[in-house]
Amino acid sequence: MSPTRRRLVGGLDLGGTKIQAVLLDGHRSVVAQARHPTPRDGGPQNVIEELASTLAEACGQASVEATDLAGVGVGSPGAIDTESGVVTGAGNLPGEGAPIPMGAGLRELAGVPTYVENDVTVGVNAEYVLGAARGSRSLLGVWWGTGVGGGIVLDGEVWEGRGAAGEIGHVVVKVGGARCTCGRRGCLEAYAGRGAMEIRARHLHGRGQKTELFKIMEKRGRERLQSGIWARALEHGDAMAIQLIDRAVEALGAGVASAVNLLDVETVVIGGGLGTRLGEPYVERIREAMGPHLFVTERPPEVRCAALGDLGGAIGAALLVPEAAA
Ligand SMILES: [Zn+2]
Repeated sequence: MSPTRRRLVGGLDLGGTKIQAVLLDGHRSVVAQARHPTPRDGGPQNVIEELASTLAEACGQASVEATDLAGVGVGSPGAIDTESGVVTGAGNLPGEGAPIPMGAGLRELAGVPTYVENDVTVGVNAEYVLGAARGSRSLLGVWWGTGVGGGIVLDGEVWEGRGAAGEIGHVVVKVGGARCTCGRRGCLEAYAGRGAMEIRARHLHGRGQKTELFKIMEKRGRERLQSGIWARALEHGDAMAIQLIDRAVEALGAGVASAVNLLDVETVVIGGGLGTRLGEPYVERIREAMGPHLFVTERPPEVRCAALGDLGGAIGAALLVPEAAA
């Protein structure tokens, strides 16, 4: 085996609808990638098998075996025990939140050292190391997707608190406000999470308010209002989509500015499925919505769109492998 090949590392981003694999070389450049749908049925073992097969496809492109890799990192939704590599509470995956022994399972199937971490944490870290926040010493990552997740880097170190830091989606933007999917009231996610926005859209639609959202969804053969559907409805000037996204942007402005008042970070990166899909024009709107809530108005943080796009999660997962992080 050549020294270059020995340094290849794998990264897997496990999402609710797709699994993205990448291989990084010694310069942390993507040399191969593959994407498979996330299994919809079965249990934990089906998820682990599909992860291994997506990784194997990427390895095939680079003419290596998974066993040649220095290691593979996995970014997964849910609560992660990073020591054991066990994932719990990932409700969008087959098995409905049952514990998934991802680290041990993948190590056995693919024959490669495996490291598992939360998907938002690895995505934010990728933007810190290689993406939009490169060169910043402090960062707040806001992952605007089905929920609103977050990650914090302070003085060059990831801040995880006692394990649950960065939950910006559950910062309260309105006391006694809208019901959040977490069961509480007034959380940022209750206004900005794509899941909560879909619940609101279905409610308004059921009461007779007109919208193109569900027509676009059906035309695309989808069951959920995915990011691309929101983007298309906005392009069409759909009144309900505009109203709900406006409400989300306003809530993001208040929640993110409040977090900045507390942490005084250099850079805010807006990522996640919806954040990445809507891109810079909406990042600009979030920047404007933050303005009235910032305590130190003359020195606002940089607010940027995530730069690594769809591959950011998988690249961040690969950085979990010690050989890639070094
Ligand atoms: Zn909440």
